[in-house]
Amino acid sequence: MNDTIAAISTGMTTSGIGIVRISGSDAVSVADRIFYAGSRKKLAEQPTHTIHYGFIKDREETIDEVLVMLLRAPRSFTAEDTVEINCHGGQYALKRVLELALRNGARLAEPGEFTKRAFLNGRMDLSQAEAVIDVINAKNEYALKNSISQLRGSLLEKIRGLRSRILYEIAFIESALDDPEHISLEGYPERLMTQVTEIAGELDRLLSSSDQGKRMKEGIRTVIVGKPNAGKSSLLNLLLGEERAIVTDIAGTTRDTLEEQLNLQGISLHIVDTAGIRETEDVVEKIGVDKAESFAKDADLVIYVADSSTELDENDERIMQLLQGKRTIVLLNKTDLEAVTTQKMLQERLPSFPVLQISAREGSGIERFEETLKEMFYQGEISFDEEIYVSNMRQKAALLEARQSIERVRQSIEDDMPEDFFSIDLMSACEELGGITGESASEDLVNEIFSKFCMGK
Ligand code: GDP
Repeated sequence: MNDTIAAISTGMTTSGIGIVRISGSDAVSVADRIFYAGSRKKLAEQPTHTIHYGFIKDREETIDEVLVMLLRAPRSFTAEDTVEINCHGGQYALKRVLELALRNGARLAEPGEFTKRAFLNGRMDLSQAEAVIDVINAKNEYALKNSISQLRGSLLEKIRGLRSRILYEIAFIESALDDPEHISLEGYPERLMTQVTEIAGELDRLLSSSDQGKRMKEGIRTVIVGKPNAGKSSLLNLLLGEERAIVTDIAGTTRDTLEEQLNLQGISLHIVDTAGIRETEDVVEKIGVDKAESFAKDADLVIYVADSSTELDENDERIMQLLQGKRTIVLLNKTDLEAVTTQKMLQERLPSFPVLQISAREGSGIERFEETLKEMFYQGEISFDEEIYVSNMRQKAALLEARQSIERVRQSIEDDMPEDFFSIDLMSACEELGGITGESASEDLVNEIFSKFCMGK
């Protein structure tokens, strides 16, 4: 693993600067072979954590004017000697610099290899390494915050804590079984029961956070409901700022569902635009309507669009039924027209939800809607504050396994099984938790995780 690797670590688009990163025991000498800083000494003689101005040259030909950053082991991202060459952003120049580094002793890095080295060199655990991907992919503020906190090791700490509690119990059982004369297991099952119940509770909390973690990463599952012609598609188009959904005057034209990702005030909404909800005989439309109802059932947020220019009808009644117990924002649309249904009427019918006036046609009322959304998600029942969120499916699966093992321990205690039964399941719980942090992850798993990284990371 000590060979020297190189890659372009910035995106392959034209930009102000681009970085070629070289890492490994020969990183500095590779760089010295291609970097010229006038009469100045070689990089090999320079102190660590310094930046040097000069030129990258292919024999006599100057490729680029650069700044070179020198980071010696272990104080670098990979914990190896690292040189980062800050080039001008052009792709051609970057490729030439990389090629030159490869011809002078470096090997092209595999996707994620820098981060993999950071992990293998003990700079970070697996959950932190995965957070690196999440930071790169973060679609909104919350997702970013969560990934950064995981990168700092919040999940790691939590899992380590749980794991060492389990390890303590395993060690206790094992030593008691080895040395029954001195260590008594009298009353131990009751004590263990208290421990595993607590651990199970912690695991449950982490597991339930995973839905919220997913929500942050993928957006809040949002469904727009409303009777046909209320203006659902118009609203969606307005929010998206483009003509994606079909807007028509014929009732029930939004037949199937459209899905969109939308960023409002730093919150991403994963919007499903549904068919108008109403009783219908039409088979095609029926599918849409059923779908709408089931989507509303699973949604985190329901936006109910009502039409102020018509009376509330049996479709509205049905929708209002559906809203019970859901987090909802009511938008009274078409307020540019003469009001038949007023804000007051709706608010009386739906006292627990905010009712806002909008006109999808004129684009009015949207700011107020965005503010409401923000208030709801900053202070409301969903809060994204300092909690640790498990947003990664692999981590969630491992947590579930661990939770099941702990449940088996509880079962064995209840069934008065001998103590070595406890330790078998405690050990598997320990193993599964170790898989999250990488303390007991197989090589295959490690390779699989890092292969998902982008090039140069
Ligand atoms: P959907 O069936 O709920 O998706 O409704 P649409 O978005 O297709 O809109 C139905 C009709 O209402 C279309 O003719 C829209 O142009 C019209 N409409 C939508 N929003 C407004 C609005 O705020 N004011 C007015 N006057 N018409 C609107």
